[in-house]
Amino acid sequence: MVRRKTISPPESLENFNMFPKYKTRAIILSKEDRGEYDRLLTLYTREFGKIVLFCKSIRKESSKLRSGAEPRLLIDVEFIEGKSLKTLTDINVVNSYPKISKDIKKISLAGKMAQDLDDLIRGEEKDLEVWRIIEQSFNNLNDSDNDFLTYQYFFWKLVEALGYSPELYSCAKCGKNINHKRVPFAMGVLCDHCSKTENNFNISIDSLKMLRLILTKDFDFLTRVKISHKDEEFLWVASGEYMNNLN
Ligand SMILES: [Zn+2]
Repeated sequence: MVRRKTISPPESLENFNMFPKYKTRAIILSKEDRGEYDRLLTLYTREFGKIVLFCKSIRKESSKLRSGAEPRLLIDVEFIEGKSLKTLTDINVVNSYPKISKDIKKISLAGKMAQDLDDLIRGEEKDLEVWRIIEQSFNNLNDSDNDFLTYQYFFWKLVEALGYSPELYSCAKCGKNINHKRVPFAMGVLCDHCSKTENNFNISIDSLKMLRLILTKDFDFLTRVKISHKDEEFLWVASGEYMNNLN
């Protein structure tokens, strides 16, 4: 008689104490359901960078970990490192960002920020500068009314921290001086000559100045800079196109 093998996760709950246990502060980037009750969570953590945690039975009504395992929360997680999986064992909400969860525009921006992080960060590597940007940006999104600046500050500081800074002072392609009457932009500003051969779109000189300030000044300073609605639009397009080009 052939005994049917039971399929179970590599580590059963009874064996948890055999494996090293870790604790870290984190924010959830994405989730993916597995089986009937399980879930994989992708998180960015302060101590380990981007990690994936297996969350056993977390979709059951009775799961005590369930309420904390949602996006847009600052959480502390505990997990054990098994042979093939990191498994969530505890979760505590540190900041529920109440103003984000009450505002549909802020919820959508928080989702966009999490998506950018998930797309741009590939390896599992601790980076305290990236963590600082995440923590500050979610605080800004909760505390500040300036959602434009919150997102633009997050995005450009993040690409800078990851080593993808745009060139904003001379042509990104050839290094020549740029014509300040029209500003062709791709992975940075382009001179008139290079703009003929590279895909690009024009941004305004004032939006370029704002972008330079975003990359050099702190958030409080930037909240005092006046920028027109039209120039905000240029930067929404610039960050969107930049993100597409990085992907
Ligand atoms: Zn050039």
